[in-house]
Amino acid sequence: MDHDGLRWNGWGSADRSGVAPVPDELWGWLAQQLGMRALLATPSRALDDLEIAPSRLSPRDRQILSVLLGPEKVWDDKQERTGHAGGRSYVHLLRLRNGDRSDAPDAVVYPASNEDVLKLLVFASEREIAVVPWGGGANIVGSLAPRHLHRAAITLDLRDMNRVEAVDTKARIARVQTGITCSELENASATHGLMLGHRPDAFEFSTLGGWIAGVADAASQTARDWLLGAEVATPRGMLRDDDLALADTPLRMRDFMVGSRGALGIITGATVRLRPQPVASWAAAYMFRDFESGAAAIQEIARERVPYAVLHLSDADDTRFLDVLHSVGRDPTLRDRMVNLALNVARYEAPCMLTAVFEGTRDTVAHGRRNLSRVVRKHGALPVGSARANRWLQQRFQKPFLRNAMLDNGLGFETIVISTNWYKLSDLYSAARGALQKAIGDTVPRLARGLVLCRTSHFSSQQVNLTFDCIFPRALNDGLAQCSALWRAASEVAASCGGTVINNRSRSEDSAGAGQNTLKSAILRAVKDTLDPKGILNPGVLFPR
Ligand SMILES: Cc1cc2nc3c(=O)[nH]c(=O)nc-3n(C[C@H](O)[C@H](O)[C@H](O)COP(=O)(O)OP(=O)(O)OC[C@H]3O[C@@H](n4cnc5c(N)ncnc54)[C@H](O)[C@@H]3O)c2cc1C
Repeated sequence: MDHDGLRWNGWGSADRSGVAPVPDELWGWLAQQLGMRALLATPSRALDDLEIAPSRLSPRDRQILSVLLGPEKVWDDKQERTGHAGGRSYVHLLRLRNGDRSDAPDAVVYPASNEDVLKLLVFASEREIAVVPWGGGANIVGSLAPRHLHRAAITLDLRDMNRVEAVDTKARIARVQTGITCSELENASATHGLMLGHRPDAFEFSTLGGWIAGVADAASQTARDWLLGAEVATPRGMLRDDDLALADTPLRMRDFMVGSRGALGIITGATVRLRPQPVASWAAAYMFRDFESGAAAIQEIARERVPYAVLHLSDADDTRFLDVLHSVGRDPTLRDRMVNLALNVARYEAPCMLTAVFEGTRDTVAHGRRNLSRVVRKHGALPVGSARANRWLQQRFQKPFLRNAMLDNGLGFETIVISTNWYKLSDLYSAARGALQKAIGDTVPRLARGLVLCRTSHFSSQQVNLTFDCIFPRALNDGLAQCSALWRAASEVAASCGGTVINNRSRSEDSAGAGQNTLKSAILRAVKDTLDPKGILNPGVLFPR
């Protein structure tokens, strides 16, 4: 069975398909920006050279598992265990590349049906073995790393449960197994003229189950928009929202499952609301004089509920980075030159780019476009045309691939997301940038420095997520301590300015707000204890131990 399609120590496919080499010009620009005379060669350790602790699964348990699921569904070799050792955060990748495989499970299983999953859970409960559900492995908060609190830990990879089981084209509803990736689901829906329209940054490799269970913050809780029902396997049996029949009852599994991180059950199926493929679409880019005026514009759009497909605002440094990324190896067009001239004349010295995409019927697109133009003009934006927006769209999923290459060239690339209220955004933005720059400055050689790029594309009328991409010369003697310094700086700023670092590793022990409110926490605990009395489902995640 070919289960080694993804890179064990980076983002993307093992065969690196679809990844263009990073042009020398970009490396030269980065070295100059970071104050480095030259970049370094820092390749990952090779898989063959790495040791891994023996599996703690007893030969008898392994044999029972093979009988229950079939021998071809149970794997405990080095490659499988390493490929499932934690998620794809920068810290995880650093540790894996350095040869640390303490996050590896003792075995990996690939169930093919609800019955397989139930058999596994009953067995694991009886034997007190932890089970960690795995979708695409894109998680960045450490909730895929077994805490090793039990006799052994098994990772349950759902990739063989990836079927679209039924599509009701009239009602625009689909029943889908949750191991399906975003791109597989969109391709299958497109054959019916439909789409889900969910485009997270990890789009190509993450799964339906991961979007439901893995994401839980108010500004990007999009699963609640399209998830109608869930089918959940637990050690106590199967629980289902009977499609729409139970929609008005107070107990819907889907409500518990969003952000549950695999600690309350294995979501094996989901009923999702689809929408028609757009007949019209329109993309455009605008430049704002500064980040604050861009933010004021998107806040107004959120408040007015103008429906958009993408609204992505970059700060001045992210805009500059994207400009370089999009222009290497390409001569500027006449339009590019005219835009730059217009920005100079208007004295937009550090412009911030907004990329907007509208999709739907001709009327909805025209309506969205009119409203957007009105709002952005009010906040002083200059339209810079569709070519820049289209370049951004073509390359929007490239940053994690660039991170792979940076790790090989002595650079670090850490992403920190801080959620806040709109009225605190301005203070928090400046303070976080300053603190991250300082934390980088304290950990790199004299004269070297970092780049702190900020963007936002997840927001509601109340809240906004600021995503900071930090690029810096890596401290080769202790990359993990360097990284901790960044997290500390971000957490201190968030605490003093009124924000929450939402992709902090410790959040995996407090997602869904379990720790913020004792009554809520008690209710969730009761649900966990009822569904998973032996506490085998992703132990230590969601509930601190
Ligand atoms: C480059 C990049 C960018 C990202 N950007 C964002 C972002 O902007 N916003 C954001 O919120 N996240 C982001 N992430 C994180 C990631 O996209 C989400 O965590 C996503 O939910 C992961 O989906 P997955 O299928 O890979 O799930 P996994 O990473 O495999 O699992 C995520 C969690 O859900 C549990 N789980 C998975 N499937 C199931 C299931 N069927 N039943 C029960 N539990 C399950 C796992 O145990 C784990 O706790 C990003 C990640 C990367 C690498």
